[in-house]
Amino acid sequence: MEDYPLTIIEFEKWFTSEEACREYIFQLRWPDGFRCSRCANEKAWLTKRKLYHCTQCGYETSITAGTIFQDTRHPLYLWFRLIWNVVNQKNGVSALGLQRALGLKRYETIWIMLHKLRIAMVRPGRERLSGIVEVDETYIGGKKPGKRGRGASGKSLVLIAVEDKENHLGRIRLRKVQDASTASLIPTIQAGIEPGSSVRTDAWNGYIGLSSKGYNHIVMRQSANVGENLLPLAHRVAALLKKWLQGTHQGAVRGSHLDFYLDEFTFRFNRRTSRSRGKLFFRLIQQAVNIEPVKGRDIRGDRLHTFLISADIFPIACP
Ligand SMILES: [Zn+2]
Repeated sequence: MEDYPLTIIEFEKWFTSEEACREYIFQLRWPDGFRCSRCANEKAWLTKRKLYHCTQCGYETSITAGTIFQDTRHPLYLWFRLIWNVVNQKNGVSALGLQRALGLKRYETIWIMLHKLRIAMVRPGRERLSGIVEVDETYIGGKKPGKRGRGASGKSLVLIAVEDKENHLGRIRLRKVQDASTASLIPTIQAGIEPGSSVRTDAWNGYIGLSSKGYNHIVMRQSANVGENLLPLAHRVAALLKKWLQGTHQGAVRGSHLDFYLDEFTFRFNRRTSRSRGKLFFRLIQQAVNIEPVKGRDIRGDRLHTFLISADIFPIACP
């Protein structure tokens, strides 16, 4: 099934009730019909509490069990409207605005819902980058430029990988790394890029050893022209990311939450040419159904309160 509403009018026609949203999720979870997660039986009763009661083993499961919507106190009706808003906003929408529009009493509620969606933006088992890939690191946060190879206080180091599609930006992967050592960089590259790919880096010694991991390592040596940009694609991604964090999130993203934002940026960036917002809606719900549930307290960490302000504006699409 790859069925989604194309316009807001269609969206409102499709999802008029909680039941309609449940049915949509049912189709995503069990496209070939119900299947018990305990015994694989294919028949179930729907109980009064809207649980699927397996006719064979008696196991009961809800439509949202094992998805990001598990244990949510909010109706799917509300979630669907939130997701539609998130994928359709190109020029920024504030969490506060969404809180009001959706009639939520507490700001924390919308904040946690948005963060759950950010987690769902990372497709489980997604493909790694391939072909020719440019790799570089950049520092996020802090005022002074950081020194490479050392931890800079108040800064986070982010590894950028971007496919070179004939000098155009292809897909990207972003990941926060501990430092610029081989031990940090190589496993991150392995997680994000298919072996056999050509990986272009500068001559930093943290990248030594890539060849032995099955990559065609292309080192861009320092050229005679001072200031020549050796890794133009990676630098453009770094600039766009910083602009986005600065503009949308006012540069106030905390290091401990940075991965969430990197995932959101990646999701939007890799789909920036997608013409259909409806398809983004479909993808995000599909991914929300297919990932492990997340508890609010796992997201909050210990500093929700100081972080609230920085998450106020959410989110814009990449250019
Ligand atoms: Zn069963």
